[in-house]
Amino acid sequence: MTANLLDYDLEGLALFCERLGEKRYRAVQLFRWIHQKGAVCFDDMTDLAKSLREKLATTAHLSAPSVLSQHQSSDGTIKWLFDVGGGDAVETVFIPEDDRGTLCISSQAGCAVGCRFCSTGHQGFSRNLSTAEIVGQLWFAEHFLRKHLKQSQRVISNVVMMGMGEPLQNYAALLPALRVMLDDHGYGLSRRRLTVSTSGVVPMMDRLALDCPVALAVSLHAPTDSLRDHLVPLNRKYPIAELFDACTRYLVHAPRDFITFEYCMLDGVNDQVEHALELVRLVRPQGGIGLSCKFNLIPFNPFPASGLVRSNGAQVQLFARTLSDAGIVTTIRKTRGDDIDAACGQLAGDVRDRTGVDERILRQRRIVIHPSPEATGADRGQA
Ligand code: SAH
Ligand code: SF4
Repeated sequence: MTANLLDYDLEGLALFCERLGEKRYRAVQLFRWIHQKGAVCFDDMTDLAKSLREKLATTAHLSAPSVLSQHQSSDGTIKWLFDVGGGDAVETVFIPEDDRGTLCISSQAGCAVGCRFCSTGHQGFSRNLSTAEIVGQLWFAEHFLRKHLKQSQRVISNVVMMGMGEPLQNYAALLPALRVMLDDHGYGLSRRRLTVSTSGVVPMMDRLALDCPVALAVSLHAPTDSLRDHLVPLNRKYPIAELFDACTRYLVHAPRDFITFEYCMLDGVNDQVEHALELVRLVRPQGGIGLSCKFNLIPFNPFPASGLVRSNGAQVQLFARTLSDAGIVTTIRKTRGDDIDAACGQLAGDVRDRTGVDERILRQRRIVIHPSPEATGADRGQA
């Protein structure tokens, strides 16, 4: 079994080169060929000595997950479904905007946290992605888009770890992947433009702060432990007070001077003015300075098995106003790629249900699920 070079950050690649009896600086050349130029085979790497290329051909390979399908939305959003083997698939979404291009990347097939409002959570956990599978999503998307848009410059300026999975429950694979994204010889992203989103894995937030402090988004979704215990079951292990302490510690190292709290707006569940006022008391206790944060309200993307409903627009506006009147910067996330199910929490919509939870609930409601072409692999190779 040869080594997949997408698994290595620059330091890992340097060690690999040393094991081949090559100088460490060769790793920089190799790394740039892979990530900056998108080379797919060693023979393309013309400035590497032939002897090194020959060694690489027998000891290494470059392999990203293969594309099962690609969908483009009328607003320019592109969603890819990647095959990661064993019947598992993960999704990656590219969101173009006037001043930036954002790639939303998956970190796991499924997720063990099991949030009530998340279709990945309903699917259950299948497995962690490897570093190569995480980096491979960016490698593929960046070089695909450059070709597609006939652009030689970088297309992806921002990466958010907000696809399927809880990135901080796959830390060992995540860390080298983040380093590849940040490396000037790799994708050269700034720490402020690389965001890890977490449901609140407290010990790993501390690790990330020390190892690789990037922008942090925390999925809060509720102002009290009793409600959050229900919506985000991980809260039973790391309740809100502990989570907030971890956020305060993170800010010492963070590239931005605030934490972004994500808050999924669920009709009648967490979207009342009283909830907003509780959030204000939580982040600004006794009207004091409290925790430096911004809120990003996400209109819930419904899926049948959740039994939940999206808050109406007026309620979201009222909630946002209540927070901003208290001096908390609040944004409402635009939904993108609605026509291709690329919005948050819909990413797993077509992927096999691992736990059977969705199917059981649907059966109780007498709704029949028809497998989509993606789930059956019928449009494999479309991209
Ligand atoms: N596991 C990480 C990152 C992936 S989820 C986390 O939970 O933060 C990325 C974001 O999408 C999270 O804020 C999550 O709460 C939100 N999300 C999940 N399902 C959603 C849905 N159905 N509608 C709207 N947002 C959702
Ligand atoms: Fe996992 Fe995040 Fe979905 Fe919760 S919201 S189940 S942590 S992917």
